[in-house]
Amino acid sequence: MPKPKESLNPFEEAQEQIDRAGKKLNLAPDLLELLKHPKRELHVNFPVKMDDGHVKVFTGYRVQYNDARGPFKGGIRYHWNVSIDEVRALACWMTWKCAVMDIPYGGAKGGIICNPKEMSKSENERMTRRYASEISIIIGPEKDIPAPDVYTDGQTMSWIMDTISMQKGYTVSGVVTGKPIPIGGSLGRDEATARGAVYATREAAKRTKLNLKGATVAVQGFGNAGSHYARLIQDEYGAKVVAVSDSKGGIYSEKGFDPKQVLAYKEKTGSVVGFPGTKKITNEELLELPVDILSPAAMENQITSENAPRIKAKISAECANGPTTPEADDILYKNGVLVIPDILANGGGVTVSYFEWVQDLANFFWTKPEVDQKLEGVMVRAFDAVWKMHEEKKCDMRQAAYMVAINRVAEAYKWRGIYP
Ligand code: NAD
Repeated sequence: MPKPKESLNPFEEAQEQIDRAGKKLNLAPDLLELLKHPKRELHVNFPVKMDDGHVKVFTGYRVQYNDARGPFKGGIRYHWNVSIDEVRALACWMTWKCAVMDIPYGGAKGGIICNPKEMSKSENERMTRRYASEISIIIGPEKDIPAPDVYTDGQTMSWIMDTISMQKGYTVSGVVTGKPIPIGGSLGRDEATARGAVYATREAAKRTKLNLKGATVAVQGFGNAGSHYARLIQDEYGAKVVAVSDSKGGIYSEKGFDPKQVLAYKEKTGSVVGFPGTKKITNEELLELPVDILSPAAMENQITSENAPRIKAKISAECANGPTTPEADDILYKNGVLVIPDILANGGGVTVSYFEWVQDLANFFWTKPEVDQKLEGVMVRAFDAVWKMHEEKKCDMRQAAYMVAINRVAEAYKWRGIYP
């Protein structure tokens, strides 16, 4: 029996997206075939001494999908559900994200099958350092630059940077991004994903003649991306945040509330739920609220063919990766909801990662206003390119973003040719 479309293996889904965009672009079939495969994959099985003295063998991956436009770039995920197909898909999507943002990187992704919630900090450090050592044969500032992803953070990046530096005998700060500021991190990296998404939302609002001042906003997922998004769109553009949520549920107030106060409340109580003056709602209800702007900023597959017909927002700005299924995309497009797709909307994160790497290589660090201004330039140019494709090809913004990205990678191949 054919699998339902919405439960495709993530890498098959990524390949299907390439096919669709490639055909619309009339790309040569052999080039399309090349783009549908990762260039290099490293599988590693390695031992880690656990706190109780026994040795546990972990499996990890680093997939280097494509480097036609520059060094490989992509995060490292620690999760019990990590699989090679998931890492392949994520590495593929990184390729398109870097290309659509027009930063000179290819795409990669790494992961370890593990449960970091059940590991002590010292076990996590030994696992990280051993994994870094195993993949050190293929990473480096000039070839492949990892970054944080699910359950990895600035501490993880610091251990990787230190491990590679110990091997080399000197400090190699440009080997990873997402580092803390004292060891070569960039100002503005913590809010970059959200700030980029807010710039993209502003551009979308201009095109759709939506006045951001007073526009109502609902944000699903009040974590790093979502909480900064809510704060920035309200404080810098005068929008009115009326709903936010986390894994425990959501809150709604027609009058709106201050996201900074909600963040302080969440830090104290562990959830946004219960914030004074708001009504409790479910995550499902949040998505269907009568708001101007919706930002899915939590998890994949939140907007599906089931709930898409009930989405009332005019703009959906995808801070999260993969929040909308392909079937839902078609419904939203038909209903006139402008979706700013993940590879564009949340591309501010990798863009400031790129800025971090540039600053590390130059050993010259920028001020926060310099970072923000450069990010704004990259976001506006990327949005313009995707908007133009969306109008020219009369397709939704996701397909347009893929077409812009795939076309840029194809262009690199045309110039470079096929070796030998
Ligand atoms: P995070 O862990 O800081 O926050 C996630 C938030 O979502 C938390 O508040 C959590 O409670 C909430 N959440 C979890 N399950 C939920 C559910 N079922 N319904 C509603 N909320 C739920 O993570 P983050 O870094 O903010 O990442 C969020 C999304 O943005 C992910 O898809 C991530 O891949 C994407 N993203 C993040 C960055 C970045 O720089 N942080 C960059 C690109 C993409």
